[in-house]
Parts: sequence; structure tokens; C-alpha cells
Amino acid sequence: MISLSQRSQSVTPSSTLAITAKINALIADGVDVVKFGAGEPDFDTPDYIKYAAIEALNAGFTKYTPVPGTPELREAITEKFKRDNGLSYEPAEVIVSCGAKHTIYNIFQAICDPGDEVIFAAPYWVSYPEQVKLAGAVPRVIETTPAQNFCMAPDQVEAAITPKTKAILVNSPSNPTGTTYDLDTLKAIADLAVKHQVYLISDEIYEALLYDGATHQSPASFNEETKAITFVVNGMSKAYSMTGWRIGYTAGPEDAVSAMSRIQSHSTSNPTSIAQKAAVVALNEPQDAVEEMRKAFEERRDVICQRFDEIEGISYARPQGAFYIFPDFSAHYGRTLGGNKVKNSMDMTDYLLNSAGVGVVPGDGFGADNHLRLSFATSLEEINRGLDRIKKALQ
Ligand SMILES: *Cc1c(COP(=O)(O)O)cnc(C)c1O
Repeated sequence: MISLSQRSQSVTPSSTLAITAKINALIADGVDVVKFGAGEPDFDTPDYIKYAAIEALNAGFTKYTPVPGTPELREAITEKFKRDNGLSYEPAEVIVSCGAKHTIYNIFQAICDPGDEVIFAAPYWVSYPEQVKLAGAVPRVIETTPAQNFCMAPDQVEAAITPKTKAILVNSPSNPTGTTYDLDTLKAIADLAVKHQVYLISDEIYEALLYDGATHQSPASFNEETKAITFVVNGMSKAYSMTGWRIGYTAGPEDAVSAMSRIQSHSTSNPTSIAQKAAVVALNEPQDAVEEMRKAFEERRDVICQRFDEIEGISYARPQGAFYIFPDFSAHYGRTLGGNKVKNSMDMTDYLLNSAGVGVVPGDGFGADNHLRLSFATSLEEINRGLDRIKKALQ
């Protein structure tokens, strides 16, 4: 037997993609499942963005582009940072990759040596620990509670910093919790990164999806010292409903961005040429379509929270952004449901899928086994139908 690499064997497959496959297999068998598993908006990509890609195809824009992205797109991204974040970057401080997931992967590859540590909160996005490990580095996970809105407290961060710390990663609004950092906490964490001279990675992919009139502030905009050590990560997937187009980007320290470009030049080369053309139009045109989708998500957030309030033994932190809710189901662990004893988030997920026809994602893969993740990137009818089923299943 030829052995596979230790690296490949240490990687846990994405639990979100695994459960999605299970749900889809049931649906293919004709089972009626209400799906809360999706990690992407349910809307179609707006037409004016699609047309830009069609035009690019027809014009023969189908060849390699510069590795870090076309000058035109990097220019549009610097304009976006000015307009939305009050941040001034040169195009040389910006790199475009094949989705923000790839952006973050490249960041770890560019900054981490074996044994380096990266600090982030649990619950976390499933890819953070695996990507850190793939870079030979070590995740330093900080446990957070619903009472702290699933945000790291500055004293927790400070206690986790060691001489091996290379970066602190913050994701606000968060996947899987939908919660956001308040400004004071974010400032205190940014100050710690500056004081200890470690990178700050700010995953702002859900920046455009905020509720209750909340506004987003990137830590890079706090002061020049913070900007000098911060990677501002963003992308097209969530704001513009462009998950399949695979365009993500970051702005950060120029030497690190050029290291990422060297790495990218030997892996994917450039992101897809026609998707880059579409991204330019998405960023430069008026943002009405984004606001329309945001409003729809806010209404759904209100409904799903209200429906969970009616179910006994479920608590949650109210999502302030993104399109996820991350309720605590552990009051129902230990019960025998559907003939099986439910011991953890995987058991509860299986019970809801097989006995109630509801597809959710277990909290386990996000580092929080008491919880389940539900995406409300689905219609109000489906939200109500699914919550009816969950309520009945737990009675
Ligand atoms: C979806 C997501 C991303 C990246 O999405 P891409 O499609 O790769 O751009 C990054 N971070 C978080 C937290 C996400 O949920």
C-alpha cells in the first residue's frame, strides 16, 4: 500500500459539505426535506453582473491574467476599500484569489512556519483550523459563550499570546453564529496585535449583511499601526450571491501580499478571467441589489428568531449579521428521540434529518457541539415549514 501524505491525513473533511451531500441524497430519493444547510445565499447572481461575464466571453477575454488579478479589478477593490471602509491602499497591496477561502489559505501559507500559532474563537468557520494545520501551524482556539456573543474577550486573547503567535483571526459578522464584535472589543484586540507585533486577519466576507442598522468598521481603519499588520479579507460570494464565481481578495502588508502572489503563481495562477470582469462591474455599479438581498435576510432573521422563541429548551445569540443562527440544543441531549439516545450535535442532526425532514449542520465541525447551525438563506415559507417540524420533533 503506498502511503498518503501525513498532511492529507491530518485534514478533516468539511462537515458542512458532508451534511449537504447527505441531505441531497435523501432529496434525490424523493424525501421532502426542509434545507437549512446552505452556506450560500439562495438568490441568483444579479443580471447586470452576469452580463459582464457574457460580454467578457464574447470579447475573447479568456486568457491568463496577471497572477494577483487584473489591474482593473485591483483598482476597483482599492476604490471599494476607500468608499466602504475609509481605507487607502495601493493596487500592489491587493491580491485577488479563487474565493476568500483561497485568500485565507494563501495568507497562512505566506506567514506561518511550522509550530507557529494562530489565535481564533470557537465557534469558528470550519476551514480555519484545517487551513492553519495545512500551513504546518497550530490553531490556538479560544472558547467563547453565547453570553459573550461568541466574541473573544481581549483578556482571553492576551492570555493566549505566546512567542509562537503569528496571527490573530477575527470573523465579524461570524459564520456560524451571525454575531458581530462591538467596536471596543475589536479595538482592544487590534491593540494587542499591534503591541505584540502579530498579524491581524480580519475576515469581513459578511460585511454587507448587517441588521438593525448596524454598521461595519474594519480594524485596519483604526490607525496606521493596525493597518500595517492587518489583512482585510473580503470577496464576492456572500454580498453579491456569487459563490460559484470564486473571487475573493485581501489588502494587507505589501511584502506579505507579494509573498502570497509568489505562492499563487505556482498553484492556481490567476482567478478566472471572466469572473474578474464580472467582479469589476459588481464592485463599481450601484449597490441596490446588495441592499435588496440584505433586507430579505433581515426579515428572515426576524422570523427564524421568533419561531425559535416558541420552542422550549432552545437558546441562541441573536444574529446581527450574515445568514446563520446557531442555537443551543443541548437541553434536549440525553433524550431518546426517534428510538435513539441523542448525545451530541451529530445525533440531533441525524434525528432532525431522518425523523423530521429538516436538514441542519451539526455544531461539532465548528467547535461547538452543543449547537446546530441553521442557514436562513431560504424562503420565509421554508423557514416556517422547517420550524414547525423542529418544534413538533422536540415536543
Ligand atoms: C463563505 C465564507 C468565506 C469564503 O467564501 P468564498 O466563497 O471562498 O469567497 C470565508 N469566510 C467565511 C467565514 C465564510 O463563511
